[in-house]
Parts: sequence; structure tokens; C-alpha cells
Amino acid sequence: MTYKNQTFEERKRIALVAHDNMKPVLIRWCRDNKAVLKNHWLCGTGTTARLISDYTGLEVTGYMSGPLGGDQKIGTMIAEGELDMIIFFSDPLTAQPHDPDVKALIRIAQVYDIPVANNKATADYLITSPLFNSSYTAESPAFAAPSTGNIDVGR
Ligand code: PGA
Repeated sequence: MTYKNQTFEERKRIALVAHDNMKPVLIRWCRDNKAVLKNHWLCGTGTTARLISDYTGLEVTGYMSGPLGGDQKIGTMIAEGELDMIIFFSDPLTAQPHDPDVKALIRIAQVYDIPVANNKATADYLITSPLFNSSYTAESPAFAAPSTGNIDVGR
């Protein structure tokens, strides 16, 4: 695999996602960090995005609900280079019907060198990092389709 640089600008594009039991924790975290978060572009899965907007006044672009495709939408945005960070408070104590989507989202974020906070302490470390408000160059995979002649498709 070869890699290419991917720059996260000063104004980060951040996805916010929380499973139901963790939504109050994420809403409080957003409220407590509103002064910083309002300088960045925020989006999230449907229910999480709406609740954060309602409780904090932050502008959060909402997509489909997570179990209905929202997690996959956010994963696609990562692969397309449209997101710089995920704050994803998953619930470690409750089985989720969309667990495959959750795993896929975490995996694709790892592939593309995207910072992910899966609990409040990690989110606190991220938001207090000097890199949160400055640019950063990550390393993402550089996809190159193999040339046609290199594949043996038989007769
Ligand atoms: P929700 O989805 O914000 O629509 O509840 C979150 C999730 O479970 O992925």
C-alpha cells in the first residue's frame, strides 16, 4: 500500500455519533466544549445531531439515523476525504443491531488515519490538543487500480 498526505485544516470537519445510552454524555460534552466546537463544522447521525442541536444550539448537519445507514454515510465521507475527526461515544455494555456498521465505521477511520474518540476522556484529550485548532497532515491510502494486464482471468 502506498500512502498520500491528507491535510486536516484548522477548521475541522467533525462527525458526532452516540448510541442511545451515551447520548446524554455526548450532549454534555458538546455543551461543555461549545466555545471550541462552534468554530468547526459539525455533522452527525440523525438522532444524535438533532439532540445536540436542540440542547446546545450548535449547528450540526444531520444524516440518516445510525442503524438506518447514518454510520455508513459517515464511513463513506471518511473514504471520500470529507471528514477530519469522529467523536463516537459507542455503548460498550449494550448489543447494537447495527454492530457491523459500527465496526465498519471504526475500521475505515483507522484505515484513513482519522482520529476517533470513543469515550469522554479521549474526546477531552483531543479537544485540548493544540492540533485540534491547527492544521495536521495525516497519511491516507493512495488507491491505484491495478493495470488490467496484471490480472489472470483465465480463459
Ligand atoms: P442516531 O444513531 O444518532 O440516529 O441514534 C447513532 C448510532 O446508533 O449509530
